[in-house]
Amino acid sequence: MQLPLFDSPDTAVAQPAAAFAALDEARAAALACTRCGLARTRQRVVFGAGAAPARLFVLGEGPSEADDASGTPFSGPSGRVLDAWLRTLGTSRAAVWVSNVVRCRAAELFGKRPRNRPPRPSEIKACRYWLDIELAFVAPEVVLCLGATPGRVLLGRGFKLDRDRGRWATGPGGILVLPTYNPAYLLRLRSQQRAAAEAAVAGDLALVRTRLAPADTPP
Ligand code: SF4
Repeated sequence: MQLPLFDSPDTAVAQPAAAFAALDEARAAALACTRCGLARTRQRVVFGAGAAPARLFVLGEGPSEADDASGTPFSGPSGRVLDAWLRTLGTSRAAVWVSNVVRCRAAELFGKRPRNRPPRPSEIKACRYWLDIELAFVAPEVVLCLGATPGRVLLGRGFKLDRDRGRWATGPGGILVLPTYNPAYLLRLRSQQRAAAEAAVAGDLALVRTRLAPADTPP
C-alpha cells in the first residue's frame, strides 16, 4: 500500500529564477539545450521526471546509456534499484521528482563502445541552470543525493561521501539534503560488500521516511 507521505506537499513553490511560467515550458526549452559540449554526443536530453511540487527530490549524477535512449532518468538497472528504494519509502516515481546533476549522458570511448564517465565541472556548472529551475518548481523538503557528485553539487567541494553519507545537511535555500549511495555503485559491488552497502542505504532511507512522515503517522 502506498502511504500518503509524499502526496500532500505543503511546501510553497519557490519562484523560478529563470523566465519560465511552468515546468513544462522549462522542459521544452531544455530539450534543445546546447549550454555544454554534451549536447554534441547525447541522443536525448533527460530532464527530471515525476511530480512537481513534491516533498522528495531524488538527485543522481547523470543519464545512463538506457536513459540516453529512453529520455527518462533512471530507466535502466539502476532505476529498478531506485524503484525498490522508493517502495521502501512507501512512495513511487509518480509522487516524487527524479533527476540528475547533468541532463545529457557523459561518455567516452572505451575501445569501440562509449562508456559513462563522470561529468566535468564545466558540464555540471552549465547544467546547474536546469537543476536550479527544477528545484524551484519542485520545491522539495528533502533532496536524496545519490552518490558523491550530487553531494558535492549541493553541499560544496568539501563533501565526502564516505564521511557524510547518512547525515542530514542543509543545501541551497535551506533544503534538507540526505546523501546516500548511488544505485549504480551498489550494482558494481560484490555480494558481501553489496550487503553492507544495502544495509547502509536502508538506514538512510529510514531517516528520510521518518523526516517525511506526517506527524500523526508512526515512523
Ligand atoms: S548537460 Fe545540461 S547544460 Fe549540457 S547540453 Fe545537456 S541539458 Fe544542456
